[in-house]
Amino acid sequence: MIIVMNRDVTDEQIGAVVKRLKDAGLEANISRGIERTVIGAIGDERPLTEEMFTPLPGVESAMHIVKQYKIVSRESHPQNTVIDVSGIPVGGKQIQIIAGPCSVETQEQMDLSAKFVHEAGCRLMRGGAFKPRTSPYTFQGKGVEGLDMFRRAASKYKLPIVTELMDIRMLDTFLEQDVDVIQIGTRNMQNFDLLKEVGRINKPVILKRGMSATISEWLMAAEYIAAGGNHNIIFCERGIRTFETYYRNVLDVTAIPVLKKETHLPVIVDPSHAGGKAWMVAALSQAAVAAGADGLLVEMHPNPVDAWCDADQALTPVELKKLMGTLDAIAKAVGRTL
Ligand code: PEP
Ligand code: MN
Repeated sequence: MIIVMNRDVTDEQIGAVVKRLKDAGLEANISRGIERTVIGAIGDERPLTEEMFTPLPGVESAMHIVKQYKIVSRESHPQNTVIDVSGIPVGGKQIQIIAGPCSVETQEQMDLSAKFVHEAGCRLMRGGAFKPRTSPYTFQGKGVEGLDMFRRAASKYKLPIVTELMDIRMLDTFLEQDVDVIQIGTRNMQNFDLLKEVGRINKPVILKRGMSATISEWLMAAEYIAAGGNHNIIFCERGIRTFETYYRNVLDVTAIPVLKKETHLPVIVDPSHAGGKAWMVAALSQAAVAAGADGLLVEMHPNPVDAWCDADQALTPVELKKLMGTLDAIAKAVGRTL
């Protein structure tokens, strides 16, 4: 951290800043220029905040010079991390398409979904048993019963399952059901207690981007999980809120190369919640794969018009199969496989 002092700073004021640094276990390097005196912190500056210095008399500004995230940063781990999801690699040369319905509805719907996911050539399946709905009066998910239906349907095709955890109190149930990937949804990206809990277990986590989160807030959220010991984190860009209302969210394609630069962890894209309409999914998926995404999280329903949740954005089984065909060519063009 660098602390820039005011033009007319006194020795006493400099002394107070140095003392604060020393109290925090760091050393100070004082550099007196013609216009300004600058104090550099020597040591691990991550526990420091700018507000520890800016209120002190004589301080003009304070700024971090190293990134606040460490374990998830590419600086700390230059090679790509490949996460093993129950035998399926995520983050390697092979791109993974995770498909399935928005929510678990019935056993029959899940059995059919699993069959179509498998037939389309996808290796992982999604489905929400606990749904974060905007209205408390709409379908909230089948809960524990839904997890059970999901597990039963997916097991037939040996598809690892991805499902959202909203409440820490459900974590043991998720572990009992042996959920393969825990999804943290956009609304919980900064639910720090939830992040700390999934940080203590040894299960892959898909961390969706908060709908209004900056890249650095997202990386810091991942750092919360990593700091607890769980480094099996997959970032998922799912669209952000902007002034545009034509579509549900704006898919931030730029986030893909930026994240790939900043972190060694896999980055996947959810084109369904980004566009919010089934007809946009193919174009957004293709853009994501072309931009370097390690996978996709796509909503597919055996019969979208009857879906209990997000009916507008679900692909039909035929559309999913067709999408897999177009992605194959793009994957090859960027040196990947599907
Ligand atoms: C979902 O994937 O089912 C979901 C609710 O997504 P998000 O958290 O991105 O809205
Ligand atoms: Mn959905």
